[in-house]
Amino acid sequence: KKQQLKGIISFKPVTQDGKEMELSANISSLKELDVALSSGTNGVGLFRTEFLYMDRSRLPREEEQFEVYRSVAEKLGPKPLIIRTLDIGGDKQLDYFELPAEDNPFLGYRAIRICLDKTDLFKTQLRAILRAGHHGNVKIMYPLISSVDEVRAANELLKACKKELDAEGVPYAKDIQVGIMVELPAAVLIADMLAEEVDFFSIGTNDLIQFTLAVDRMNERISHMYEPFHPSVLRMIKLTVEAAKRKGIHVGVCGEMAGDLKALPIWLALDVDELSMSAHSILPVKERLLSLRQQESRELFDRILGCRTSAEIHELLKLRTAEEQ
Ligand code: PEP
Ligand code: MG
Repeated sequence: KKQQLKGIISFKPVTQDGKEMELSANISSLKELDVALSSGTNGVGLFRTEFLYMDRSRLPREEEQFEVYRSVAEKLGPKPLIIRTLDIGGDKQLDYFELPAEDNPFLGYRAIRICLDKTDLFKTQLRAILRAGHHGNVKIMYPLISSVDEVRAANELLKACKKELDAEGVPYAKDIQVGIMVELPAAVLIADMLAEEVDFFSIGTNDLIQFTLAVDRMNERISHMYEPFHPSVLRMIKLTVEAAKRKGIHVGVCGEMAGDLKALPIWLALDVDELSMSAHSILPVKERLLSLRQQESRELFDRILGCRTSAEIHELLKLRTAEEQ
């Protein structure tokens, strides 16, 4: 099977009826980049940068970050590299960072909220990313966005970093693209407005499921309630993709669902541009993509939208697989 999958590495990721899909990798370390490249990845759709900040005694300096981002960008060459700014807090803590214990850390002081508060920390990362952009096809992505204000505040800091770099005569990517993760219901419901502020969306289904269903993604006891194929989750996704399409911006998916073979007809029906997943999922997803038709996926998705329970949706998606084989 593995050998058979190797045979499609160089194939264009396209359905039987011509819908192309960018298949990218999520990486959270340098090691994972090599696996991604050997799977014929389109690029990196999500570079989780937390590892640079964890398991150490102090914040990473601009130069250290720049070296890491640059080496990834150079390895990818012209392929896109979406670097997500620090998404710490919630389950991930930093030893050297005094974060008071919170009753609800997942709803607390984390990710972009920290970055917009500790602006020096944020600007250090933004400067490193901007500079790496001079060496490859780099894009910036903000996590956990809930409002237009946050996007604007982050972009103001980005502008300030550019000004500084200009003054210092340091080369950087002047036209760097900026996107957001759509992973909170609040963002979904104003997706049309957010789309006017950014170049792209990436749907973070892991958090979107958690926050839509109010089900802690780490809590074993209620893990049976963590349901990607819940009608509410699918409506959230549909609203987001449609808003992006109407405004003409690129839209991808980077949660675990992007690599789920069962979900593929949904992305095709919605005409999503990119799926970013762990590297080992790329070839299996491509194999299935090659066998599907977008038109049939649309018909299937229409039926899915009429389903009132996840069980019915699972049944429809499963049926589909059986028919094909
Ligand atoms: C997500 O929330 O779907 C996501 C991709 O980000 P993370 O898993 O790092 O929260
Ligand atoms: Mg997330």
